Amino acid sequence: MSDIVGVLERELGSDAIVGPGHERIEDYGRDESPLPEYYPPACAVLCESTAQIAAVLRICLERKVPVTPRGAGSGMCGGALAVEGGIVLSTERMKKIIEISPDDLVAVVEPGVVTGVLQEAVEAQGMFYPPDPASLEYCSIGGNAATNAGGPRAFKYGVTREYILGLEVVLMGGEVLRCGRRTAKGVTGYDLVAGFVGTEGTFGVTSELVVKLLPKPPAAATLLGVFANVALAGTAISAILRDGLRPRVLEIADKMSIDVIRAKSRYRFPADAGAIVLLEVDGDPDGMAMAMERIGMRFDELGALDVLAATEPAERRAVWEARRLISASLKENYRVKVNEDICVPRGRIVEMLARIDRVSADTGIPCAVFGHAGDGNLHCNLLGHDDPADPAVQQRMWAAARMVFAHTIELGGTLSGEHGIGLTKRDFMPMEQSERLMEWQRKWKSMWDPSGLLNPGKVFPARQRCVE
Ligand SMILES: Cc1cc2nc3c(=O)[nH]c(=O)nc-3n(C[C@H](O)[C@H](O)[C@H](O)COP(=O)(O)OP(=O)(O)OC[C@H]3O[C@@H](n4cnc5c(N)ncnc54)[C@H](O)[C@@H]3O)c2cc1C
Repeated sequence: MSDIVGVLERELGSDAIVGPGHERIEDYGRDESPLPEYYPPACAVLCESTAQIAAVLRICLERKVPVTPRGAGSGMCGGALAVEGGIVLSTERMKKIIEISPDDLVAVVEPGVVTGVLQEAVEAQGMFYPPDPASLEYCSIGGNAATNAGGPRAFKYGVTREYILGLEVVLMGGEVLRCGRRTAKGVTGYDLVAGFVGTEGTFGVTSELVVKLLPKPPAAATLLGVFANVALAGTAISAILRDGLRPRVLEIADKMSIDVIRAKSRYRFPADAGAIVLLEVDGDPDGMAMAMERIGMRFDELGALDVLAATEPAERRAVWEARRLISASLKENYRVKVNEDICVPRGRIVEMLARIDRVSADTGIPCAVFGHAGDGNLHCNLLGHDDPADPAVQQRMWAAARMVFAHTIELGGTLSGEHGIGLTKRDFMPMEQSERLMEWQRKWKSMWDPSGLLNPGKVFPARQRCVE
């Protein structure tokens, strides 16, 4: 392992290596997860092609060096951290949009393409790539596929998996595998693409993707309902779901989330705003107007403090800018922020919001909740002003997170709706999945990576170490 940096440097050139002492090496030891620890790799290798990825994976298998794939490092659960040492393999330089085909309604891209850049490129040609993680301005398509990323529009359009038609994946050792298709339908053989998506970089390194596009909806509009408290906002969401309405986005944010963006937002929140429901409709303008009217009536019936219908792009941008600022603003305001992304069945959203409130009251830990409520996917942010490096603080926060997870599972939900398990949640897996179920998944992983060197220490608990 000691000479791995030199070997990789000779193979790929020094320009491809961020090694010890380099000013950027620290960046590769962190991601957006709430971990206080820093995991410096031996080096980060910035690959530019499939051939380079294959060379790195061949060399690392030969020398038994662990490899952690990394896209943009925006992951929330430590998935891109070299927790067992070795190197980080970054795809950040692989930013080519190889093809956009209006005839086939597909795009072929390298994994480092930033999600928002792809969206803009296809929209300029009248098409639409729906998956829209709130991090879209910097996260990568490769990372989105590895985490099966969601986003606000998942409510109507589904998550990343539904838009990945084909993959080129490099396996540990350097074998390049192309699977999937570029056709609208296809059931030849097993669906390996679906099997790779969401495996958090533990099966192989994605080096090219074929993504499905849709025709761009002719119009879209944004509706914001402001309520006195989060229970009323939750009730409004349940009412919209029961009415059979299908906005493309159905989001919630509570008072703490509003308060951190209040001063920055171009929309002026009423002083007594306790929660918001943010939604978008799209499609033909007549259908949209009808849906907006019905939802607006629902909001009024439930005593909304304000209802804003935004149809102009600038107005809509202002509302969305505010929504996208929540996560970063919480981080600015609190030294500790444990952001979980639990997901409950849609019918249990109101109950889950109440239970999160109870955990916050019982533990004395403030909790901001926002997220993709239409999917039952809530970002529950446990917050504090204490020193995040203090183990006692970490223990207290994760004990509260454990309580939130327990309620989630009791309500028929799941630990992660979109961020993945990675490192931060691996020890909680036995709360949701049986040892047998995890064993089958470990066997599946070892089929693609018998060496266990690709992104080790992720997703499943180390066998002897489980939380409680
Ligand atoms: C402010 C903010 C908002 C966010 N909002 C959302 C949201 O709405 N929805 C959502 O789902 N997530 C969200 N996220 C989380 C994060 O952006 C997503 O998980 C995203 O998909 C990660 O992409 P990335 O390129 O940054 O991947 P990284 O963080 O670099 O890596 C994430 C995982 O993917 C693996 N990986 C990366 N590239 C490859 C590759 N080429 N081949 C194989 N494995 C690979 C890594 O090993 C790791 O396990 C948010 C994050 C932030 C900071």
